[in-house]
Amino acid sequence: MSLSNGRHYLAIPGPSVLPDAVLQAMQRPAPNIYTGELVDLTHGLIPDLKKIARTQHHVAMYISNGHGVWEASLTNMISRGDTVLACLSGAFGEGWADVAEKLGAKVQRLDFGKTIAIDPAKVEQALRADTDHSIKVVLVTHVDTATSLRNDIKAIRAAIDATGHPALYAVDCVASMGCETFEMDAWGVDVAIAASQKGLMTPAGMGFVWASDKALAVGQTSDMRTPYWDWNLRTDPTHLYEFFGGTPPTQHLYALRTAVDMMMDEGMENIWNRHAVLAGAYWAAVDAWGQGGDLTLNVADPAQRSHAVTALKLTEPDGTRLRDWLTEHMGVTLGIPLGMAAWDAPEWHGYFRIGHMGHLNAQMVLGVIGAIETGFIALGIPHGTGGVTAATQFLASQVGTVTTPAEAGGCCSG
Ligand SMILES: *Cc1c(COP(=O)(O)O)cnc(C)c1O
Repeated sequence: MSLSNGRHYLAIPGPSVLPDAVLQAMQRPAPNIYTGELVDLTHGLIPDLKKIARTQHHVAMYISNGHGVWEASLTNMISRGDTVLACLSGAFGEGWADVAEKLGAKVQRLDFGKTIAIDPAKVEQALRADTDHSIKVVLVTHVDTATSLRNDIKAIRAAIDATGHPALYAVDCVASMGCETFEMDAWGVDVAIAASQKGLMTPAGMGFVWASDKALAVGQTSDMRTPYWDWNLRTDPTHLYEFFGGTPPTQHLYALRTAVDMMMDEGMENIWNRHAVLAGAYWAAVDAWGQGGDLTLNVADPAQRSHAVTALKLTEPDGTRLRDWLTEHMGVTLGIPLGMAAWDAPEWHGYFRIGHMGHLNAQMVLGVIGAIETGFIALGIPHGTGGVTAATQFLASQVGTVTTPAEAGGCCSG
């Protein structure tokens, strides 16, 4: 007998759960890519993608994953030999920095380790020390999906402003866009990047780069621009074949349209609040479990924790045992660790992650929490009791603070 039949829940931090409506939107014959519906649909996506990032400025779409838009953003912003200040709080920040280095930039790394967020004061210090303004871009990862640290994007902007340094401010929002509060214009972000398969609830395969007027102006002189990644070619979708640097991502565009419709109906504030409350249910459960065992959250300070992903640790090999058991017996799959220990090190088997981004609701989260607690009992993993109860009590206390889609009036401006 198995208890894992029924709909499997892939609770990893991307790719996230695909809404049925998104999947259904893709079930259609190949559309004409030169005129008609697909052109109109792509035109219509641009203002809505700007609403998601809260910007009046520009957005470029690519057939790409997150790694692709790491490269797209960098090649448009910098020239060979330019210095990039890479602020690191986990493996994804390191990944973006490595791409910059391989492209030919000088990379100055400001590494904050794996358990605390980027300190804006240190960013300020580094920029003040750069008296000849050789740093052209400051790279920050909003949510580092490996550590589940969430950086304070607004505070880092204030630190940059305090120095008067002219560097561009670029933020990796792959894990956070459509999950965490993000205000591109109000927070003074010049470049933001995202990919389709996380908060945007669309299959992997599309990448997005939002850019300010300032970034576009700086980019005019970049000597790294290439025919595929050049964002100047991706402003007007009248000719989709040119806009996408070749054949457009046909079925993905229908999927994205449906996912974005869902987001506009819910409203960005409601989406952000939903993620915050559901993350809080996980934290409440982990707090209870941690009372009687060695389960710990990677990020101690709640203000620095992501609402989209949670990184955790047990004594090895219980992280791996738990993950395997949940997949086999409960029908839910949690995420493997990234960047916390070497793949072949014993400690690797202590870490694991839970993805809670995009298309998810309270019963899904309670299902995972209940499944984890069941796994602790079945596997004899020491833990405090009452994780499920703590989560239910927390959620009960929050109901009413989250606006339902009906209350939001299906509006999209907010
Ligand atoms: C997932 C992720 C990436 C990489 O995206 P891919 O689509 O896997 O290339 C980059 N940055 C962050 C913060 C991510 O979460």
